[in-house]
Amino acid sequence: MQMPPRGSAWLRRCMIRVGDVREVIEGELWIVEGRRELGDQDRRYFVFRRIVGGREVFTCSCQDPTKRFSSRRSRLTCSHIGAVLIYRRMKENAGLRNTSA
Ligand SMILES: [Zn+2]
Repeated sequence: MQMPPRGSAWLRRCMIRVGDVREVIEGELWIVEGRRELGDQDRRYFVFRRIVGGREVFTCSCQDPTKRFSSRRSRLTCSHIGAVLIYRRMKENAGLRNTSA
C-alpha cells in the first residue's frame, strides 16, 4: 500500500505517533495511544487491516460513525493509520537488515 499523498503536517503527526503504535495481532490489529496535543479524544485507537477484493483496507476506530468529527475524519486517511503504515515499513526495513546481517 502506498503512503497517501498528504501534507507534511499530517506526516509529522504520523511520525510522532509511530512510537505509540503497538502490534496486537501481527498484520491485523494495532493499538495507537491517543495524544491530546494531536486532538485525540480517546485514550487509544484500534487500527484494523483487512483484505477486501485482494486489496489492503485499513480502518481506524476514530472513524466510528457514532463519534463526533467522524464524517470529516473518515474522508481522509487518519494519522493513526498513517502511523501504522510507517511502523510496518520500518519493521520491514529492520527485517531486511536482519536477514543480510
Ligand atoms: Zn484514526
